[in-house]
Amino acid sequence: MPSNSLDITLFERVIACWICGGTAFVPYHRLRMDLAIYESQDPELARYRDLTLALHRCVSCGFGQPEALPTLPQFFDRMYDQRWSDDWIVSEFRNGAKDLIFKRTLEAVRKSSNGCGAGKPARFLDVGAHVGRLLFLAREQGWQCEGIELNPKTRAYAESVTGLKVHHRNAQQLAGSGERYRVVTLIDVLEHIPRPVELLRTLHALLEEGGCLVVKVPNGRAQHLKETWKSRLVPGYRATLADNLVHVNHFNPRALELALRNAGFDQIRVGQGAPEEIPPVTGFRALIRNRMRPCFLGFYLLESLPSSWVSSLFLHLQAVAIKPGPHTSR
Ligand SMILES: [Zn+2]
Repeated sequence: MPSNSLDITLFERVIACWICGGTAFVPYHRLRMDLAIYESQDPELARYRDLTLALHRCVSCGFGQPEALPTLPQFFDRMYDQRWSDDWIVSEFRNGAKDLIFKRTLEAVRKSSNGCGAGKPARFLDVGAHVGRLLFLAREQGWQCEGIELNPKTRAYAESVTGLKVHHRNAQQLAGSGERYRVVTLIDVLEHIPRPVELLRTLHALLEEGGCLVVKVPNGRAQHLKETWKSRLVPGYRATLADNLVHVNHFNPRALELALRNAGFDQIRVGQGAPEEIPPVTGFRALIRNRMRPCFLGFYLLESLPSSWVSSLFLHLQAVAIKPGPHTSR
């Protein structure tokens, strides 16, 4: 389906860049939408089938976003209404596939210029806590941890396995109730939320003055480059970037920094985020397999180079940002 023939009963065009407000875009990828699998669970959602949609890159800041969003109310909530099995949820906690990501998250918190680790135990909130693995690891370091998780099954599991409070309220509701935290983490969540600066502003409100936010997202520019080359080199491979709109935000280092600044943050540092490992992640063969994967080789290669040279090539980005306060230096 060409870009100018969007079905207006299904989609509404996105006019301006969600990060900088720019209105000049370059289309750079066509994603596919096929939600026919939801036919029995949610027939309205299953109308999004046999469709394509363009991803647009903002000329001003380089941010990538879809040319349009679905008009179906609660489209994303309905698409993410996944009914995972109990065994899968347990394996998500135990397999350690994201432990490298969480280790770097906690390192970033410790190194934060405003002493986020000082004065423990201080309050730590993981937004999108999933099965509670980061909360479990953060508590081992002395943080007073809580989470937010909207999926009822993973939320219940996270609470039972950690014994910690995992809220079913969204971040805006929690901020409105007056809760404040020294640290907020947002790991592999922001790429899924349209108009991302709004969520970042809410997280800003959830932080104490001088508190820090750690965000991890895929680097949209580098992921596009990787997929483009893979489709050229691997016969029959089709580049996939955001099929079914699983990712709506495609950051580059500059757009991520700008988004955080527009949300009110200061002392922003954007660097390389860690990749996820393929479970199982223990044992000699698993070690060799994971370390031999191209994204892992690239991760360690790029780690050894000055980040300012190569940040646009990072497959994942991690940002640390501070909420300004009377005691923070600019
Ligand atoms: Zn922009």
